[in-house]
Amino acid sequence: MHATEASGHDLPGKAPDARDDDTLRVRNLNTLIHTPRGTIKAIQDISFELRPGEILGLVGESGSGKSVTLRSLLRLMPGAAQVSGSVTWRGRELIDASPQELQRTRGGEIAMIFQEPMIALNPVLTVHRQIDETLRAHTRLNGGQRLERTVELLTQVGIPDARRRLQNYPHEFSGGMRQRVMIAIALAGEPSLLLADEPTTALDVTIQQQILNLLLSLRDRLHMGIIFVTHDLGVVAQLCDRVAVMYAGRIVESGEVGAVFAAPLHPYTQGLMGSVPRVGVERTPLLSIEGTPPSLLNPPPGCSFNPRCVYATDLCRRQVPPLLSLAGNRSVACHHYQHLVKTRSLS
Ligand code: SF4
Repeated sequence: MHATEASGHDLPGKAPDARDDDTLRVRNLNTLIHTPRGTIKAIQDISFELRPGEILGLVGESGSGKSVTLRSLLRLMPGAAQVSGSVTWRGRELIDASPQELQRTRGGEIAMIFQEPMIALNPVLTVHRQIDETLRAHTRLNGGQRLERTVELLTQVGIPDARRRLQNYPHEFSGGMRQRVMIAIALAGEPSLLLADEPTTALDVTIQQQILNLLLSLRDRLHMGIIFVTHDLGVVAQLCDRVAVMYAGRIVESGEVGAVFAAPLHPYTQGLMGSVPRVGVERTPLLSIEGTPPSLLNPPPGCSFNPRCVYATDLCRRQVPPLLSLAGNRSVACHHYQHLVKTRSLS
């Protein structure tokens, strides 16, 4: 398989028919977090593109940098964090955008659904007030129209008897209901790009399915791009067009979902796939990835996965493998990927 090193000019995911304006371009994004114990390299050299209407799944273990990536895109990291690189959206560079420019972008053009609704929602404002604030900031609806739109949004995300719940506060909702309120707030400005940080993890499977269907219909109706952070590969298979696998703050593999699931190239991706049960195929023992993710304060030299990788060589312990662009819009960061391809039945 022919490979070239992925660069800012040759990124996985670029398609010739993409409308340049609404394509999110992320190049060499790095986030350092300075702590009393040292500097954490939370994400390193993250590059990808997201076209309008495309859904990218960001997967990996806890601490792999998925949430930091989403927050860094919108500069929502705490003060001790240092974000560098380039994030361009509608011809604007977001990394050094002014607070006013970022304000305009957040919520209206790019919205985010957070993992923890209890932290993200304001506990002293009713849900009506919180949705109305977004509608007021990002639409031209009058008061009556905003009220009806609020009811419509809450109904859309599956809150029963929405009109009666308008004056409730976040603590009066269950965890799953609060998550749905968060999603309603994010959708209120009809964003062109949605950043979703494990939005369905706390929901039961029926509600999760409703939310996934809602996101798919919004993608179709608004041609909205979505970055969906999850550790659930089943959700990725169902929802996403492309997947990027993160390990220790870097993307180690990316590609179209069908291709990556059929033949994962990176040993970590192979381990993730091997740990998921599949229905309808011959029973085989599930695999687990031995060991734990490395400390980002003091990562191992060379490939971060080397202490857990059964294929590790001296080269792996010395040199960080570059992210290589392969044919078919795929990329992988492994010194020995050519010898490790494993095909899987998708049934
Ligand atoms: Fe394993 Fe080496 Fe590939 Fe890293 S570079 S995943 S250690 S084979």
